[in-house]
Amino acid sequence: MTRALRVAIVGSGPSGMYAADALASQDDVPVSVDVLDALPVPFGLVRYGVAPDHLSIRSVRDTLDKVLDKPGVRFIGNVEVGRDVQVAELHDYFDAVIFTYGASRDRRLGIEGEDLDGSVAATDFVAWYCGHPDADRATFERLLPSATSAVVVGVGNVAVDVSRVLAKTVDELGHTDMPQHVLDTLARSQITDIHILGRRGPAQATFTTKELRELGELADADIIVDPNEVVLDAASEALVASDKAVARNVDVIRGWAGRGPTGKPRRIHLRFLARPVALSGDERVREVTVEATELDGSGGVRGTGRMSTIPADLVVRSVGYRGTALPGVPFDAQSNVIPHHEGRVVRDGTVIPGEYVAGWIKRGPTGIIGTNKKDAAASVASLLADAGTLPQAPHASVEAFDALLDGRGIHVVDTPGWRSIDAAERRLGAERERDRTTIHDRDHLLAAATE
Ligand SMILES: Cc1cc2nc3c(=O)[nH]c(=O)nc-3n(C[C@H](O)[C@H](O)[C@H](O)COP(=O)(O)OP(=O)(O)OC[C@H]3O[C@@H](n4cnc5c(N)ncnc54)[C@H](O)[C@@H]3O)c2cc1C
Repeated sequence: MTRALRVAIVGSGPSGMYAADALASQDDVPVSVDVLDALPVPFGLVRYGVAPDHLSIRSVRDTLDKVLDKPGVRFIGNVEVGRDVQVAELHDYFDAVIFTYGASRDRRLGIEGEDLDGSVAATDFVAWYCGHPDADRATFERLLPSATSAVVVGVGNVAVDVSRVLAKTVDELGHTDMPQHVLDTLARSQITDIHILGRRGPAQATFTTKELRELGELADADIIVDPNEVVLDAASEALVASDKAVARNVDVIRGWAGRGPTGKPRRIHLRFLARPVALSGDERVREVTVEATELDGSGGVRGTGRMSTIPADLVVRSVGYRGTALPGVPFDAQSNVIPHHEGRVVRDGTVIPGEYVAGWIKRGPTGIIGTNKKDAAASVASLLADAGTLPQAPHASVEAFDALLDGRGIHVVDTPGWRSIDAAERRLGAERERDRTTIHDRDHLLAAATE
């Protein structure tokens, strides 16, 4: 090929940015990379998932941002693939496409009452407190000031994030980049009790110890653990013996068990061996029916039939994320990922030339941010190995693709546009002595991009 290989990356979360970095950091194949995102701003869940009070993790975006300075890499924001431009069209403008569009939909509990008002997905709550432009602001501004008891279903890190945000004082969150309306709403929250429910035991919980420990260090919230629920069967004991991370978690939880409240105005009840079986209420959820479970000796649980209820006017379902299909792209509806062989997209067992996948939509929603780096690099290695044999796109130039988007009247946010938004967020933050304040409104983001 006499020109640079044109590559489209669909999604600018960590996996998309790491893929762009891997492409731009090699010399064997000259490349020109467009990183497309449906949102006007880059970095996916690093911006709209990672908890705003975890400043050091959120600072990963500074590292990701540097990729946009690399020669040949452009950010093309506010362009939704599947809506503004179709996958088949991308093949006219790019020699290769890498799908890195994540897996950010919620999983369902599949129990009665799940859709009652006041029962929300963690994905939606997280999107709201991170200032996602599509977040349902009105719902949370209505629910939080009128709720007193919240149930968070799930014992992963996202459940811990959600519980911590609900339990923290606004003073503890004031330094973050949360939009001001989020801080104002949290300040009006009436919640005194937060019940975190795990259907299995403490040894099977998937949170990391650092995140877990924070729950015991909050200014205005006590942590309460029932010693009767800190039960370890032989399989759990074996896990504790073989896995240091599990042992640390169990240690922290045992330290809390039986400690009792110290009189702080909020309480986090960390529950194990308790699974929700129904939500009930009137026009809004009022109660969660919980069945006590017992460990079955092989890492699973079975129901005991012993029921109890927890009053709850807010239920946050945090039982995992899942990927969705993109029109024109193969999708495994069982595991909610794009099927692939070494990062090459596969349809009915056959590799589709020029299509690759990385990140959560390749592996499912597992691992930490850094996991996506190795994963993206592996997919890029496959792409580079194929470079000489890829079908050449007929309109493979930046000018041709820009003309396509322009002709559709799409307000593209490019790298300078994103930098302008970035500067506007820093200015907004400085008004309240914060590093930055997230601009949540899409029109305001687009306006800031052209300032
Ligand atoms: C609530 C939460 C908290 C987390 N906290 C941590 C943490 O503290 N530490 C840690 O290491 N990991 C954390 N993670 C995990 C981490 O965020 C993921 O590993 C990582 O974001 C996955 O990267 P990705 O690029 O595959 O997907 P994403 O980050 O989801 O990026 C996908 C991107 O694709 C875009 N997109 C989607 N559809 C389209 C389309 N049709 N067209 C164009 N663009 C599209 C999206 O807008 C998004 O920008 C957290 C995850 C969640 C959900």
